Amino acid sequence: MTSYEATTTTSDIQGSSYEDNSSLHTRDHDREHEHDNSDIQGTGPTGSAGAASEPAGASGSTPSSDGEEVWETFDEMHLKDELLRGIYAYGFEKPSAIQSRAIVPVASGRDIIAQAQSGTGKTATFTVGILQRIDPDLHEVQALILAPTRELVTQIWTVLSAIKEYMPIHAHACVGGTRVRDDIRAINDGAQVVVGTPGRIVDLITERRALSLNHLKTFALDEADEMLSHGFVDQIRVLFDFLPEDTQVAIFSATLPLEIMETTNRFMRDPLRILVKRDELTLSGIKQFYIAIEDERFKLPTLCDLYEAVTITQAIIYCNTRRKVEWLTQAMTDQDFTVSCLHSDMDMAERQVVMKEFRSGSSRVLIATDIMARGIDVQQVSLVINFDLPSKRENYIHRIGRSGRFGRKGVAINFLARQDVPYMRDIEQFYSTQIDEMPSNIAEFVTV
Ligand code: AMP
Repeated sequence: MTSYEATTTTSDIQGSSYEDNSSLHTRDHDREHEHDNSDIQGTGPTGSAGAASEPAGASGSTPSSDGEEVWETFDEMHLKDELLRGIYAYGFEKPSAIQSRAIVPVASGRDIIAQAQSGTGKTATFTVGILQRIDPDLHEVQALILAPTRELVTQIWTVLSAIKEYMPIHAHACVGGTRVRDDIRAINDGAQVVVGTPGRIVDLITERRALSLNHLKTFALDEADEMLSHGFVDQIRVLFDFLPEDTQVAIFSATLPLEIMETTNRFMRDPLRILVKRDELTLSGIKQFYIAIEDERFKLPTLCDLYEAVTITQAIIYCNTRRKVEWLTQAMTDQDFTVSCLHSDMDMAERQVVMKEFRSGSSRVLIATDIMARGIDVQQVSLVINFDLPSKRENYIHRIGRSGRFGRKGVAINFLARQDVPYMRDIEQFYSTQIDEMPSNIAEFVTV
């Protein structure tokens, strides 16, 4: 996957050909080419695909200027009462942009590709849509949600569990590094929604034969560009082989490179596409700065100088490799700074403790690899430091999106070694944004 292709504007997609180069399994060969004509910005739902409890199609919605249907309030979505209660009890009053466009289509059973920037409420979009579709009396797995990291799976499960609080629905999270037999027991006990990482899910289906997808209504992929990139694509392909013919496929991501769009067309049927344009991917409300650092060796003292500003709130510091995360953590600790760290070489229990402490605010500075870049939501994070600029351009926006969640203000500081200058200019150009030199009064920008 090229990381420079997050330019899924309407014209890009319509102009592309959907040629069949990939080896991905095609679920519905006859309908494959219909996608070429499907609407890009999306139309409203095409009516209900089955269950009586699904929302009442277009009623109550307002067409937006581009023809997309928008449900301005949760009440208008005709959701089940106990689901609505869960949403309000969770503290949501009004749907976000993606929620107002995509919840009803997901709940209607339609295939959907939704692209929305980080922190805009994607998780609740698919969890609400999915919960609406679940038949509480059927004690089989009816929805499967996949995400690329254990932390993200746990986060999705937590949101899902809170929103379904008043619903008689069982959900379970399956991730590597935990006991498989606990997963098997939860599934046997009637879990209706399963959230998991691809490896564990494939294992449960193919090796253990403990997870049947025969009753699956919805298959959702969060962070789909990551999920469909090389690391996971084989596992996802295996899963597609197990999907019943009429299973809804819902794809969510902040970025959707063109190749991924082409790939997804191979296994989706006339998907509703809700896309944001590239420019809108820059997160407004986040101030972006750089510090020019002549030599890599000066990054550490620069970070130490910044520590006070950093600890005003909570901060994430990104490095590009696990080794560097470990090195920096050690170097900071040696100088008596309190920091914690997270990367994929750590075992699950350790990662959970670190995340728990960071979420609760008992640890304030987290040094991490890109494992933390996608989708993790810690509300208080208002400062992100790129100790290294990300090696993939897409990850810049994922990392920066850790601050300024859901419209809150945030600050990003990029440590800029000499050789990074053209790369940073390229990022600025790509996202039509400006990264200024960091002012001396940085603490004033980092609000609590
Ligand atoms: P997400 O993009 O799903 O990670 O969500 C980002 C943040 O926005 C989370 O802290 C959510 O709790 C919050 N959020 C999502 N939807 C809403 C909403 N409708 N109203 C208020 N906050 C929301």
